[in-house]
Amino acid sequence: MSYTPPITEQRFVLDTVTRIDELAATERFAAASSDMVDAILEGAGGFACGEWGPLNWVGDQHKAEWTDGNVIMPPGFKAAYKAYVEGGWGSLDGPEAFGGQGLPFALATVVLEDLGTANMAFTLCPMLTVGAIEAIMTHGSDEQRALYLPKLVTGGWTGTMNLTESQAGSDVGALRTTATPQADGSYLIKGQKIYITFGEHDLADNIIHLVLARTPGAPAGTKGISLFLVPKIRPDGSRNDVRCVSIEHKLGIHASPTCVLAFGDEDDCTGHLIGPEMGGMRAMFTMMNNARLNVGLQGVEVGERATQAAIAYASQRIQSARAGGPGTVPVAIIEHPDVRRMLMRMKALTQAARALLYYAAGQVDRTHLGIEGAKARLDILTPLAKSYGSDAGCEIASLGVQIHGGMGFVEETGAAQHYRDIRIAPIYEGTNGIQAADLVGRKLSSDGGAGFATLISDMRAEAQDGALIALIDAVEQVGAYMREAPVDDRLAGSSAFLTMTSVAVCGWLFERQMRIAARETSAFHKAKVAVGAYYLAHLVPEALGLAASAEAGASGLYVLSAEEMAA
Ligand SMILES: Cc1cc2nc3c(=O)[nH]c(=O)nc-3n(C[C@H](O)[C@H](O)[C@H](O)COP(=O)(O)OP(=O)(O)OC[C@H]3O[C@@H](n4cnc5c(N)ncnc54)[C@H](O)[C@@H]3O)c2cc1C
Repeated sequence: MSYTPPITEQRFVLDTVTRIDELAATERFAAASSDMVDAILEGAGGFACGEWGPLNWVGDQHKAEWTDGNVIMPPGFKAAYKAYVEGGWGSLDGPEAFGGQGLPFALATVVLEDLGTANMAFTLCPMLTVGAIEAIMTHGSDEQRALYLPKLVTGGWTGTMNLTESQAGSDVGALRTTATPQADGSYLIKGQKIYITFGEHDLADNIIHLVLARTPGAPAGTKGISLFLVPKIRPDGSRNDVRCVSIEHKLGIHASPTCVLAFGDEDDCTGHLIGPEMGGMRAMFTMMNNARLNVGLQGVEVGERATQAAIAYASQRIQSARAGGPGTVPVAIIEHPDVRRMLMRMKALTQAARALLYYAAGQVDRTHLGIEGAKARLDILTPLAKSYGSDAGCEIASLGVQIHGGMGFVEETGAAQHYRDIRIAPIYEGTNGIQAADLVGRKLSSDGGAGFATLISDMRAEAQDGALIALIDAVEQVGAYMREAPVDDRLAGSSAFLTMTSVAVCGWLFERQMRIAARETSAFHKAKVAVGAYYLAHLVPEALGLAASAEAGASGLYVLSAEEMAA
C-alpha cells in the first residue's frame, strides 16, 4: 500500500507549467532557487511518504474518537504531527515577519500534495490552518496578527473554518449564529456549527476557529455576515466556551474529525471581529479561495496514489490468457487493452489535474507580485481547479477499484479507501454545482469577461493540436452563449461548460509539457509525451461532445414535477 513520491513529475510541472524560475527571479521569491526547490521536493516527499504515509490505513481503521468533548486522534498521529511542525513543513509560504519562510505558494502546494498523497484525512488539518493564516494576514488587525500568526505559521496551533449550520450549507446566508458586542470590544458568540473539520483534536495546544456570525440588526442573507476569531484557549490562558458535542461517522477520511461545535452554551464564548462588521463573506472568501485550490489538489493526491497502486496490481495479477487472444500463455492483466485504457486514463487525469493546480498556484504567487492579468486568470481558474481536480480524483479512484476487480471492493488493498476518502472533495468547500454556478454567474463576466478572454487568448497562442483547437473554439462559443442565456439555461449547462473549459486548459498545458518532453529521451519524458497524447486523443474529443449538452440549457429538466420524478 506504499507509493513513490512523484518528484520528477512535480519538478517538471513546476518548471514547465508554473514556471517557477520566473518566480525565483523576483526579489520576493529569490529564495526559491533551483537547489532549494529540489531540496524541498526531496525532503517533503520523503517525510510525507515515510512518516504520514503509514498512518493512512491506521487512521482509516482506528478513526478519530470523541469522548466527553475531547477528540483523540488515532495512534501515531500526535508524534507525526509534532515531526511535521519541527520539520518546518507548515511554514514554507507563511509570512516571514511571523516565522514563515516566505516561499511561493506554488511550492507549498507541492508540499501539501505530498502530505495529502500520504494521508488525505490528516492533511486537512494543515490545509485549514493555512487558510486561517491567509484570512488573518489579509483581514486581521496588527494586534491579531502578532497574537495568533506566529503559532499558526509554525503549526503549533491549528485553524478551522466555521460556516456550516444545519440549515445553512450551500445557502450560507441562512446562518443564525449570533455575535453580540461587549463593552471591551469583544463579542459574545452563540450558536452551533456542524461539519467542522478538525474542530477539536489533541494534536496542538490551541485551536483558532474562524466563525461566521451575525451582529444584532444585521440584514438577512450574506450581506449581514461578519467573521470572528474564536480561540479554544483565550490569550489569558482560560478555556473559551466552545465545545465539541459530537463527531460524524462517515464514508471516508476517518482520521479527520468532523465536529459539531457548540459556541456559547454557557454564554461565555469570546470572539473577536476580523475585518469590518458585515465584511465576513469577503474575509471568508480569502480563506475559501485558498481552500478551494487545495481541495482540487486532493484529487491529484489521491489520484497519484490510486494510480500507482493500480499499475502495481495490474502488473502482478496474472491470468491464464488474454481475453479473445490466441494462446494460453499466462499474462498480467496490464496486457489487456481495456486495463491499459483505464490505467492511461488514470495517469492522464492525474497529470492533467496536477498541471491545472500548479498553474493556478503560480497565478496566486503572480497575484501577490502584482503581475498584470494574474488575478483575472486566478479568478476563473479557481472553480475549474476545485471541480475538475476533485471530479478527476473520484473518477481515478473509481477506476482504481475497477482495476483491482473484487480485491478493489474488499478493504485490504487500500483501493476502496482511496474511493471512500476522495468522495467528499466534490462536496465540501462549495459543492461542484456551486462552483459551476460561480463560473457562469460571476467569473465569466466579472471585469467585463477579462479573465475568460485572457485564458482563451493564452490557450490560442500555444495550441496546435486540431482537436484541442476545436475545443477552445467550442469553449469560446459556449462562453458567449452562457453570457446571454436566461439564468436557468445557463445554470443547467454550467457543469458541462466547466468540464469543457477545464479540459481545454489541461489539454493546452499538456501540449506545452509534451513539446518540452519530446526533446529528451528518458523514460519519464517518453511517458509524458504518451500520456499527453492520450489526453489529447481521448479526453479532449470527449469534452468537445459536451458542447451540445452545455447549450441545451434547461430543456427537458422541468418536464416532470417533483412528484412525477418520484413516480
Ligand atoms: C466531511 C465534511 C467536512 C466538512 N468541513 C467543513 C468545515 O470545515 N467547515 C464548514 O463550514 N463546513 C464544512 N463542511 C460542510 C460542507 O462545506 C457542506 O456540506 C457543503 O457546503 C454542502 O452543504 P450541505 O451539506 O448543506 O448541502 P446542500 O447545500 O443541501 O446541497 C445539497 C445538494 O444540492 C445542491 N445545491 C444546493 N444549493 C444549490 C444551488 N443554489 N445551486 C445548485 N445546486 C445547489 C448542492 O450542489 C448539492 O448537490 C464539511 C462537510 C463534510 C461532509
